[in-house]
Amino acid sequence: MRFTGQCRCGKVTIEIVAEQFPPLYACHCLNCQRWSGSAFGLHMLTAASAVQVTGETATFEHEHHAQSSTQHACGTCHTRLFNETTAAPDMRVLRAGILAGSEGFEPIAHIWTKRKQPWLVLSGTVAQWDESPTPEAFAAALG
Ligand SMILES: [Zn+2]
Ligand SMILES: [Zn+2]
Repeated sequence: MRFTGQCRCGKVTIEIVAEQFPPLYACHCLNCQRWSGSAFGLHMLTAASAVQVTGETATFEHEHHAQSSTQHACGTCHTRLFNETTAAPDMRVLRAGILAGSEGFEPIAHIWTKRKQPWLVLSGTVAQWDESPTPEAFAAALG
């Protein structure tokens, strides 16, 4: 399957080619709320090699739990696009709201739900954790 996305101004475009629908999860932590200016971050875990980026991105690097994360945004309109982390070197984590058709995507896990905004009601059947799950538990939920 193929997904396309872009920043708000359109100078950076993204194409993802994947055999299966990549794992999609929502993070309700304070950093994701601040960084998105919204209720949660919506993240798609993709193999780095599956993501094609056209256009110039501006990057911001920061340390997080002894790992280094590089955030990529459009260099013009500053829309956040994806990040890379030394914790998962061959992956890119896409901000899924930039993708065409994202209204049809449903997260398969919610993390940091102890910070979830109270008006947001989650389906009881979807995997959820109060904070960050262990990598093993998360991988099991993502299938
Ligand atoms: Zn842009
Ligand atoms: Zn988060």
